[in-house]
Amino acid sequence: MKEIIACSACLLGLNTKYDSLNNFNQKVFAYLRDKTVIVICPEVFGGLLIPRNPSEIRGEKLYDNFGKDVSEYFMKGAEETLSLLKRYGCTKAILKDGSPSCGTTYIYDGTFTSTLKKGLGITAKLLIENGIEIIEIE
Ligand code: SF4
Repeated sequence: MKEIIACSACLLGLNTKYDSLNNFNQKVFAYLRDKTVIVICPEVFGGLLIPRNPSEIRGEKLYDNFGKDVSEYFMKGAEETLSLLKRYGCTKAILKDGSPSCGTTYIYDGTFTSTLKKGLGITAKLLIENGIEIIEIE
């Protein structure tokens, strides 16, 4: 049976980013060519639209660039993603770093000044806490 791996939709070229663009990554695409893929976009799963306002994590909450608390959408997206992976017995994921949902090593610092800091996105954190292995593609 082929290995099942979840992957952030934007890394595969789907225009799911807040600005309707993507983060297509040729190396990720090549790595997944012979595998079964679950395509995920936690922010869309959580009920946010494309396009949408950009959001960042501040403390325990998430806010968009107009100061609206959007934590509920991000939490729902994380839970929906975990539920989907569990349903298919998927234990590995490739996630887009830097995102408030998918970030695996860094995120923006909540000031909307393009300042990065070490940290995990909401979905990445929930997946790791539930034993999902995050695969880094160099
Ligand atoms: Fe990509 Fe994740 Fe953002 Fe969706 S939530 S656009 S998959 S980084």
